[in-house]
Amino acid sequence: MGHHTSQSADLNTPLSSLRGVGPKLCEKLTRLGLHTVEDLLYTLPHRYEDRRHFSTINQLKPGEPGQFRGKILNADEVPIGRGRQKLFEVVVGDDTGQMLLKWFHYRRDWMKKNYTPGRIVQVYGEVRFYSGRREILHPEIDFNDATDSASLRILPVYPLTEGLSQKQLRNFCQQAVADYADSVPTHLPEWVMKKRDLLPLNQALLHCHCPPVDSDFLCLQQGQDPARRTLVYDEFFYLQLGLTLRRQGVQVEQGRAFTLEHRYTQPLAKALPFSLTAAQKRVLGEIKQDMLAPHPMNRLIQGDVGSGKTIVALMAALIAVENGAQAAVLAPTEILAEQHYNQFHHWMTQLGLHCALLTGSTPKSERQTLLDGLAHGEIKLLVGTHAILQPDVTFADLGLVIIDEQHRFGVQQRHQLRKKGHNPDTLVMTATPIPRTLSLTLYGDLAMSVIDELPPGRTPITTRIARSSQRPQLLDFVRRELDKGHQVYFVYPLVEESERSELKAATEAFEALEKELGSEYSGGLLHGRLHPRDKEAVMDKFKQGQIHYLVATTVIEVGIDVPNASAMVIEHAERFGLAQLHQLRGRVGRGAAKSYCVLVPSEQCSHDGQQRLNIMQSSNDGFVIAEADLELRGPGEFLGTRQAGIENFRVANLLRDASLLEQAREDALQLIEQDDFLTSPQYYAVRETLKQRWGSRLELASVG
Ligand code: ADP
Ligand code: MG
Repeated sequence: MGHHTSQSADLNTPLSSLRGVGPKLCEKLTRLGLHTVEDLLYTLPHRYEDRRHFSTINQLKPGEPGQFRGKILNADEVPIGRGRQKLFEVVVGDDTGQMLLKWFHYRRDWMKKNYTPGRIVQVYGEVRFYSGRREILHPEIDFNDATDSASLRILPVYPLTEGLSQKQLRNFCQQAVADYADSVPTHLPEWVMKKRDLLPLNQALLHCHCPPVDSDFLCLQQGQDPARRTLVYDEFFYLQLGLTLRRQGVQVEQGRAFTLEHRYTQPLAKALPFSLTAAQKRVLGEIKQDMLAPHPMNRLIQGDVGSGKTIVALMAALIAVENGAQAAVLAPTEILAEQHYNQFHHWMTQLGLHCALLTGSTPKSERQTLLDGLAHGEIKLLVGTHAILQPDVTFADLGLVIIDEQHRFGVQQRHQLRKKGHNPDTLVMTATPIPRTLSLTLYGDLAMSVIDELPPGRTPITTRIARSSQRPQLLDFVRRELDKGHQVYFVYPLVEESERSELKAATEAFEALEKELGSEYSGGLLHGRLHPRDKEAVMDKFKQGQIHYLVATTVIEVGIDVPNASAMVIEHAERFGLAQLHQLRGRVGRGAAKSYCVLVPSEQCSHDGQQRLNIMQSSNDGFVIAEADLELRGPGEFLGTRQAGIENFRVANLLRDASLLEQAREDALQLIEQDDFLTSPQYYAVRETLKQRWGSRLELASVG
């Protein structure tokens, strides 16, 4: 365990103490977020240059960096074209040929003095072809004419850092490594280091900044070298250890052991017009196991659009209700809350159970009655937005908390709702599939269930991209669908921030479409500004087939279930996130008919946007789409929100290092199985390091 140096240097030493770092440079470094020696140690190169070999001039290939030695044959300033500007040219030769070197920025006197014919130089740079000649622009030159073996090495290249030269950064990092790397202790269990082939951290830092000459260069370049892997692993290990402890910490809390009464669940199962899929049954089984156990459930259900999460959540709610408890469903938006409420309400009233909706727009008069009903336990299930977190919302006996689309809520809000009961069970549902790498970090403290199967009878949706120039064909296609007796959605994104312009855009689009399609077909307009009553009226008409096509802003993202709708046209499609597009598309393909989704990009759609639409065209699998979206946009943008523990990795890269994350998770679990609160002396340092890295985020009495 550990490599403690007796007199270790302080890693918090400010950077001003390095040689060559004056106040001005210090300011620049601060702006880059570098304050201490430790910050600098963990600023890793993003690539390397192989300077271990010399080539001969004839071996150098255009487009590749190379290094050679030669004699200066000629050096002079020459005019550029016919203008007054000049550049500096040097011709260097060896036994095999000649190479032209060019500088556009230089100090004339210095160049003239140093570049003298006959002198031997070492040159590094990338060769290019220009007007039939091979040349190197702004090469790096070394005037050491003796072959110095110390100069033959692998050089680190640091991410571009404004106002600092590569040379300066290299110099500072070398100093930091030389004087401080040995003060970085390694607090990974011995068996983990052996199993994963890890280096002590001090050595890992040294090798990252100054790779040994015999390193495998390709490995280094791809970030797969043992040194970098060690640093990434170390970061992941402590993350996973913290998450595992948090997950376990909830488990050791006293919770409530429900029993299966079947009083409502069985009648519901009978009333459903379908039987649950194997995946729904499996996930429900996992939930039951948690709910019957005497500790609080903390589980995440992931499933693609339409995989049937709601029914599973309803079943869980009924188990709680059968035991005399209440359930609460928290949704991120009013529309989502309403949609959930409709579904829950539909089934619960059939079972003779009382269910209510509470949002910011619930009238005051209704609100009070509702709060009384909740406090007295008559209302068995409450669905709502943030409004249900308010302090005066109290439950007689809250036994189950269901949170939809949790990544829009913080851990804090999860906690706030749970506090309204006595360690209630918690079920988190995400409508957006989340790639495993992200869910392991974001939801690492939750047990996970995946509904990886769609109910039978769904026909896959065909997705196509249509340019606006193909409008006539698009309209022909829409008419054909309508003539078959099917219905069609037209979706417009919220173009501007303000609701008024959204309304205007939607209205204009609707009127234009009415003209284009003609009076044979009738359409309806649905937007966020409509009164709920009118909204419902339009939706009802569409459901009953009185309206053939529906023009809508994103209000139909969730909830509308019209099996007769066979096509969806999404305008300005690239303005939606992939997850949202996938959600939207899930509104069709619910009946027996072949279904279509047509994506219409804006005229000024970027290359990136185009690429994202291509993904939609090539896959119907929410998980595949999510992976691709993550790769294109990176974790931060993918989530749309800044999440603690996601963006602030010091060295790890979630996409590149996914396999290390899995390994770290496995090992953290194994460690906790051995010693569930890290109390044995051999893990003292691990425990201390964990506390130090997690700080207050590890709110656990057990790791105090
Ligand atoms: P999700 O919330 O996962 O998007 P829902 O629970 O809203 O999915 O279900 C989508 C639709 O599929 C609903 O109309 C629901 O009634 C129906 N459904 C759910 N489970 C099944 C099943 N096992 N067989 C057939 N239809 C189902
Ligand atoms: Mg749903």
